[in-house]
Amino acid sequence: MTRVVYVNGAYLPYAQAGVHAEDRGNQFGDAVYEVCEVLKGRLVDETRHLARLVRSLDELGIDLPMTTKALGRVMRESIRRNRVHEGLVYCQVSRGAAPRSFLFPGPDVPPTLIVLARRVGRAAAESQAAEGIAVKTMPDSRWGRVDIKTVMLLPSVIAKEAARAEGAKEAWFVDKDGRVTEGGSSNAWIIDAQGHLITRQADEGILRGITRDVLIELAARRGLVVVERAFTVAEAYAAREAFVTSATNLVMPVVRIDGRAIGNGHPGSFAVDLRRQFHSAAEIAAA
Ligand code: PMP
Repeated sequence: MTRVVYVNGAYLPYAQAGVHAEDRGNQFGDAVYEVCEVLKGRLVDETRHLARLVRSLDELGIDLPMTTKALGRVMRESIRRNRVHEGLVYCQVSRGAAPRSFLFPGPDVPPTLIVLARRVGRAAAESQAAEGIAVKTMPDSRWGRVDIKTVMLLPSVIAKEAARAEGAKEAWFVDKDGRVTEGGSSNAWIIDAQGHLITRQADEGILRGITRDVLIELAARRGLVVVERAFTVAEAYAAREAFVTSATNLVMPVVRIDGRAIGNGHPGSFAVDLRRQFHSAAEIAAA
């Protein structure tokens, strides 16, 4: 369990770890976040996650209230204080708390920084990966800058809940041309009959996943062909394999899409192999 949470300079007991009622994260979704995996008490791909956090903040003109090096220290201290061996660290930065106004507050209003570390056992994810997951496609109703990792996650909340209602673990968003963009909280991949890995190009229409980037490097090192382009729902139904990637689920095989079995209906061998090898390609930080 999470025992203490870092909020604006203090490590507070979980039950007391709140932000102001007029925090812009609450009122406008005016905040960005990152989720980093923790493995054996160490941060996985810290450098890339912090670089993406800085990019998200820069796109929105929000300041990071400390250096990324100092934030790395807070993340480590949160891991230590919560005795996280396996799990995650969640960081959120909002534009701060001020009387409600659409316009940005003045420079005197400091951003709000939250860092929360949590234990998450790997056993559940491993048994899920052994089975594979079902996904459900639905229209992508999000705004046009989902490359920025904001907390405006309501479309994903609604989509993932709708997926769950049909026994699916993830929603796959589909654009108006019938092409899959990404998952509600993951990047979407298929493998075609030639064994080519296909995942949507990282422009403003998807979040450029850190797990996605690391996997592209891993695949290249293994001599696999990765094609970054949008694929249609029909291509996905006919794929040899499918999977999703995210920091919390790594490489997760997809065995059903909209109730149709993918491949032989079991996790594919490429996905299983890539999952097994993932951490060999990731950056594992010092404790
Ligand atoms: N797309 C979306 C919409 C996500 O929310 C996430 C997870 N945060 C991802 C992709 C995967 O990103 P990452 O591999 O960096 O966790």
